[in-house]
Amino acid sequence: MPLKSLTINGFKSFADKTKIDFTSGITGIVGPNGSGKSNITEAIRWVMGEQSAKSLRGDKMVDVIFAGSATRPQMNRAEVILDFDNRNKELKTTQDEVIICRRLFRNGDTEFLINNKACRLRDITELFMDSGMGKQSFSIISQGRVEAIFNSKPVERRSIIEESAGVSLFKQKKQQAENK
Ligand code: ATP
Ligand code: MG
Repeated sequence: MPLKSLTINGFKSFADKTKIDFTSGITGIVGPNGSGKSNITEAIRWVMGEQSAKSLRGDKMVDVIFAGSATRPQMNRAEVILDFDNRNKELKTTQDEVIICRRLFRNGDTEFLINNKACRLRDITELFMDSGMGKQSFSIISQGRVEAIFNSKPVERRSIIEESAGVSLFKQKKQQAENK
């Protein structure tokens, strides 16, 4: 499921709309300390549904919105758009291209979109579940994550294995059905 592009606008240090096109092969992002490399991976996790402000190195979710600098005022909206090539149908939809978008406004309003249509956070989470991608999958390995897996309790480790084996979506659906 190749990534086509990532567009960041008003998220963390990205006050200017920034589009990264991913060509085939490996993309490396280099830059000095504090230039925003980690913010890019956080933008990817955020648009895929990350709900923990702490894991995005903030206190509250609005902390992801550009907070202003010496030369620029703060912004009122963060937007991240991630574009996937889904011709191989690894994402759970029949569409060949999947564009997900998340917006957060300073008043707390939030929007999720799949292919320009408003959706729920749950629709985004389900899209990635068992795909090997997603906010907590192994496709994104942040600093400290390897140690965390080694040090996790058996139950936590089991959920990691279930996600990679592709059974968590069915578990969640079963749970939802039982709760109805
Ligand atoms: P390193 O090489 O040290 O890991 P990095 O390239 O990963 O650095 P990041 O951690 O992505 O850098 O970026 C940190 C920068 O982002 C800091 O300068 C911080 O002030 C800025 N930043 C974080 N959140 C916001 C925000 N909401 N508004 C403006 N700037 C922000
Ligand atoms: Mg970093």
